[in-house]
This record gives sequence, structure tokens and C-alpha cells, in this order.
Amino acid sequence: MGEGIAGRVRLMKGIVLAASALCTSALFLCAGGNAVSAFTAQESAPIQETTAPAGLLTGLVIALDPGHGGYDGGAVGRVSGTPEKGLNLDVANRTRRLLMEQGAAVVLTRTDDYALCDENPPIRKKLQDMQRRAALIEENGCGLVLSIHMNEYAGRSESGPQVFYREGCPAGRLLAGAMQEAMIDCLQPRTKREALGGDYYILTLGVPSVLIECGFLSNREEEALLLTGEYREKIAASIVQGVLAWAALEGEKPQPLEKTDRSDEPRAE
Ligand SMILES: [Zn+2]
Repeated sequence: MGEGIAGRVRLMKGIVLAASALCTSALFLCAGGNAVSAFTAQESAPIQETTAPAGLLTGLVIALDPGHGGYDGGAVGRVSGTPEKGLNLDVANRTRRLLMEQGAAVVLTRTDDYALCDENPPIRKKLQDMQRRAALIEENGCGLVLSIHMNEYAGRSESGPQVFYREGCPAGRLLAGAMQEAMIDCLQPRTKREALGGDYYILTLGVPSVLIECGFLSNREEEALLLTGEYREKIAASIVQGVLAWAALEGEKPQPLEKTDRSDEPRAE
């Protein structure tokens, strides 16, 4: 956080992720099925500089982090067996398009079905994957982090979107509150949840950050909704509404907690 926000914005303005040439729906079909996908390690997502159109979010560099990928499918649909990784990527792609329409520059931490770790890393796979996501977010000077996930729970009745922020971080809590409210407004879930503090690596990088659990794959009705492109588009629109509501809040926004130093993380599984 050595450099001021104005400096970072100046530096990073206009850097956006190139739209993937691959068809999003084809990607989704590949990633969303039950088949075990080949493990592919990739160090970083392709990023290219272009100019975003002017809009309400012009000057803001937003990291979209589609959770899981590759060997790590994440939560699984109770009825369909669909892993969350492909759904997360699809929601992120839809959100990216809508954010760019508002003038934001967007960095995706992954653009396909892969984990960001080596096949046999010297540290835990999940940790290396998270470290590389964090490096992408930092190298690109992102001023906001939105991590996209799908939830699951042992009980089948739990449902509804749930937004998490770093425990004790006032900047994260402000963003999470705006995001949770926007998702409730747009999606009208049966269960209206409140934003919660949590302990997630991706939220500890020293920028306003939220982890968005879009809904429960363990709930039959919500799983059916999450499997439709129409509902995922609504989710993307609700996320953008959350960012817009946060950006429009008056007064100076609180600073995020400092980045957590993870250089001492364990080297072995
Ligand atoms: Zn997840």
C-alpha cells in the first residue's frame, strides 16, 4: 500500500483483461460437467491493456476471482453433480462484461478451468494457487476484490446469497453490506442473509474485498436456479449493483486492514 490510491489509479487506468476468444458457454459446458478435467497449471491469466469506456466506475481496477478451478472443483450440486468452479467462472465473465460497461477495468484471476499451481508444488497446492491469485491482484494494482463462489451445507434447506468480508475490516464490511443489500434487492431470495466476517486468504490483501457465495448448490431449488444462465446473469447484475451502490456512498470510505504477511506459510502439505 506504499503508493497512494490516486497513483495506483493513474498507473492502472485502462488495464483490462482481454475478452476471452473462447465461447463462455462452451467453457461452462466443459467445466460444469462431471467429467474429470485434465490438470493444467498456469501461472497467470493473460492480461492486456485496452481502454475501458467512460462510466460511473471509470478509474477503478476490480479483481474478479472465480473460485477454484482445475483439480479443485469446489462445492458440488447435490442433484446435478455440477462443480462450482465452472459456475463461478461464468458468473465472473458476466460480471466482467457489466463492470466494463460501467467503465471499470477488470482483472480476472483465472480465465479457464485451471488451478494456478504446479502439479507438484513445494508447498500445498491450494496455498500456491491462492498465492498466485494474490500476486495477480497485487501486480495489477486492483482497488477492489470480488471473489465468486457457490455455497454448500450439510442441511438441504439453507439457501440465499451470502457475502463475506475480512473479520474486523471496516472497508470490507462497508463493501459487503452494500453488496449483500444489492443481491437481496435484485435476487429476492427466500432467506435474506446478512454480510458476515470470515477468514479467507483472498480477503487479506489490504484492499476492500468481499467473498460472494452466490447461493447454495446443496439446496435443490437454488441449485436449479444457479444452473441457468438467466439467473447467473441476474447474479452478475446484482454484483454490479453492489459495486455501484458502494461507489456512490457519500463520505470518505474507511481504509482496509493491512495486508497479512504470508511469507512464513508452511512449506509442506
Ligand atoms: Zn468455493
